[in-house]
Amino acid sequence: MNRSLSEYEPFVGRAILDQLYQLADDLKGMTVVHVNSTKEGGGVAEILFWMVPLMNELGIKASWEVVEGNSEYFNVTKMFHNGLQGNKANFTSAAKKIYEGTNEQNAQRLRPILENADAVFMHDPQPAYLLKLCPERKGRWIWRCHIDASNPHRQIWKYLRSFLSDYDASVFSMPNFAQYLGNPQFIIAPSIDPLSDKNCQISVSDINETYDKFNIDRNRPILTQVSRFDRFKDPIGVIKAFRLVQNFSPAQLILAGGGASDDPEGAAVLEEVKEAAGDDPDIHILMLPSDAHKTINAIQRISTIIIQKSTREGFGLTVTEGLWKGKPVIGGNVGGIILQVKDHHTGFLVNSPEGAAHRIRYLLRHQGRLRMMGEKGREFARDNFLLTRHLREYLTLLLGLKKGFTNRLIAT
Ligand code: UDP
Repeated sequence: MNRSLSEYEPFVGRAILDQLYQLADDLKGMTVVHVNSTKEGGGVAEILFWMVPLMNELGIKASWEVVEGNSEYFNVTKMFHNGLQGNKANFTSAAKKIYEGTNEQNAQRLRPILENADAVFMHDPQPAYLLKLCPERKGRWIWRCHIDASNPHRQIWKYLRSFLSDYDASVFSMPNFAQYLGNPQFIIAPSIDPLSDKNCQISVSDINETYDKFNIDRNRPILTQVSRFDRFKDPIGVIKAFRLVQNFSPAQLILAGGGASDDPEGAAVLEEVKEAAGDDPDIHILMLPSDAHKTINAIQRISTIIIQKSTREGFGLTVTEGLWKGKPVIGGNVGGIILQVKDHHTGFLVNSPEGAAHRIRYLLRHQGRLRMMGEKGREFARDNFLLTRHLREYLTLLLGLKKGFTNRLIAT
């Protein structure tokens, strides 16, 4: 990405950019390494894709490393992911061995980069064990948790905490996602890039192509959920809600998803979704490649309402993307969706397929309200969830770590 910060001025104004340059002044030359477990697919990769180049533009020497592993490793880390979000799990010593062993293999490659970095952002649990394997680390290490860890599986949490508490700081997306780790904690919500292929303005021909390519009717409302095929995203619940809407108003449902390379459960969930959809021609299940950003952008723009009916959610970037496109969002009453869907203002929070259907039908009957909510949603996203706010908070955190503010925080 060769985009410059100045290109964001039309969205956020000059003062916001000046503030970023000022904050970064004291961070010039600092080496910052982000580590996660996939280059493509999922919200973390989306964020790092723009975060790393913009940090570089501000004079920070930022880079992005990805841990590699086989399917056994990703099965274990998926169990951690689900376990952190409260699922039952069978955490065995074999699983621990796979996790630690794969991190050890990655450490052999990454150790020099990580130990020499001034700051390391370790995203989620997959690579977090690397801290134990870099004893000569000279910089400050931050564990950045993107998921809802408020009610974790106890045994998994006990294990993860044994090394997460050695990080110099931790970052959660919302206050009620956080767990006590004995280090300074920061709350930083994620964000979207308004100039990315996923969120930029697109041409009428791209829009038309999308209708045609997926055989979507231009004349009936379109309800859309964009998500990995993951049970926490509740795609089956979305289909149930859609069936209840169909009984009253003609509509179409798009379930657009794909696999993230660190998510081994996707294929099984996709099969369940196909079975639930049956041969209904108004349910479009789209398996998209991980780089189908423009297509997702177009699908969100042609949608009447965006749905994100998750039963557990980290932040829910798909919600932000929907709001930014001026669409009301019907969202599960969980996780970061609550930060974004302001009930009755930018959309509706729901707790069941019936609730979702009720709200969808209401919006389809009240077009004025639907438009007004969409406009409010866009402004809400502009004020709170664009990348410049996110970058500012990361810079402030780095400054705090550099100047030792966080030690003082601990001391007080
Ligand atoms: N996404 C995508 N292709 C898909 C499904 C999702 O590009 O098939 C994108 C989606 O547009 C969003 C991100 O992946 O930008 C998902 O982030 P979110 O926070 O909603 O969920 P996560 O996958 O991180 O749980």
